[in-house]
Amino acid sequence: MAHVVMFTFPAQGNASPILNLAELLALAGLHVTFINTENFHCRLLRHSPEHFARLSTLPRLRFRTVPDGLPKDHPRPILEFLNLERSLRTSSRDAYREILLNKDGNGWPPVTCVIADANLRLAYEFPEEMGFPVFFFRTTSAASFWAYHCIPDLLKAGEIPLSVDSDMDEMVENVRGMEKILRRRDLPSFCQRARTADDPFLLFAVGTADDTRSRAVLFNTFECLEAAALSLIRSVHQTTYAVGPLHSLLQGIGGTAGDTLSGLWEQDRSSVAWLDEQPHRSVVYVSFGSVAVVSEEQLAEFRVGLVDSGYRVLWVLRSDLMGSEKQGAPVWAGELEATGKMKVVGWAPQREVLGHPAVGCFLTHSGWNSTLESFAAGVPMVCWPFFADQQINSRFVEEVWGSGVDMKDVCSSEAVTRMMRAAMEGERAERMRLAAERLAEEARRSVGEGGSSRMEFLRLVEDIKGMTA
Ligand code: UDP
Repeated sequence: MAHVVMFTFPAQGNASPILNLAELLALAGLHVTFINTENFHCRLLRHSPEHFARLSTLPRLRFRTVPDGLPKDHPRPILEFLNLERSLRTSSRDAYREILLNKDGNGWPPVTCVIADANLRLAYEFPEEMGFPVFFFRTTSAASFWAYHCIPDLLKAGEIPLSVDSDMDEMVENVRGMEKILRRRDLPSFCQRARTADDPFLLFAVGTADDTRSRAVLFNTFECLEAAALSLIRSVHQTTYAVGPLHSLLQGIGGTAGDTLSGLWEQDRSSVAWLDEQPHRSVVYVSFGSVAVVSEEQLAEFRVGLVDSGYRVLWVLRSDLMGSEKQGAPVWAGELEATGKMKVVGWAPQREVLGHPAVGCFLTHSGWNSTLESFAAGVPMVCWPFFADQQINSRFVEEVWGSGVDMKDVCSSEAVTRMMRAAMEGERAERMRLAAERLAEEARRSVGEGGSSRMEFLRLVEDIKGMTA
């Protein structure tokens, strides 16, 4: 009997796909122990009780928590993830060891292998020391990961660090296979911001992009979407599994992937009721994910640009979107809601929203989950990337996949209005819509009977089972 331990970085965008995979593996008959930090697990339980109630009916899936070492009332901003990562490394060690040794086994088989979030060094370094095989789970696209992998080449060639007056439209030469795609402004944000070769984020990215020690690498992507990037990755790491979009695979197999994992905030379902009242494809859905922080000035540009576009808008304004937790939406939100053309919520059931016929396009920060969810729903995007891999995702959405426009590095009300129109009406919008619909079809095929992601998932299950023999 195989037993997989899975350890996620405590962030919405990481936990969500890894939890989908945990559920899939448990449904496939493997024993799965899912590790969360105590603080993160409490927050998930508080806001997604139905999801956890359903997961608790799976006899082969169990949760374990480890301390993150920070005081109870620490706000744990994910943007300070290097600190969190460092703190976790020391404070969760003992608890992690107990789990790996299956100390509270209760009849569960010994641990076969670990599937570790590749952003969490502890998650893979410690089992490696103890001799457990480790699979890396990459929460980025394959293309973004490949760019991370090429950072040493960029450094060697002197392409990074960039100087303050660099021409950001210059093409990047040392990300092999992407010479015709990436401009400097499309590089991961930490590559653009680093001013020295020993920048801590750069070093962290280089360290976590070293997959050589892992037995295999898992991607939440699908073969025909990222065939080129996957093939580059396979040239350095032969065992990869492309098993995404995981939420669609899980839905297809009968799991709970719907929208029950609310995450770190409570879902406001009035967003769906409001959409029900709106005409077909008339609404712009706006969300910047769970981490991005915008300034008051940027928010004002978006507000004016969206209002000027004249479209209906469903806008997710997280309580901490402007940094510190603020209760309630800004005053202007109420005024705009009174016009009937705008609905503001603190957190939405995003997958359900994207699948709603009233949604015409998605103004997104280009997080990989949001991008995949948009593909799966066939919705065109206007991309305003915030950080890390999002700069690459947005470039690929416009240049390679053709299902959206990349508004990168610009935040003016005029640009917002222009981009909205480009994605909502006219010939260009039609082309984007067709591309988005094609991607949705391909995503569906990948997770369906005989599809590439489903077959890769079955191969993963068999490979893990084979490790117990
Ligand atoms: N999300 C959600 N409701 C919202 C906004 C976002 O459920 O109102 C979910 C979204 O469906 C996605 C995740 O939050 O699964 C965000 O992940 P992503 O990788 O896009 O961005 P991150 O939050 O990591 O920046």
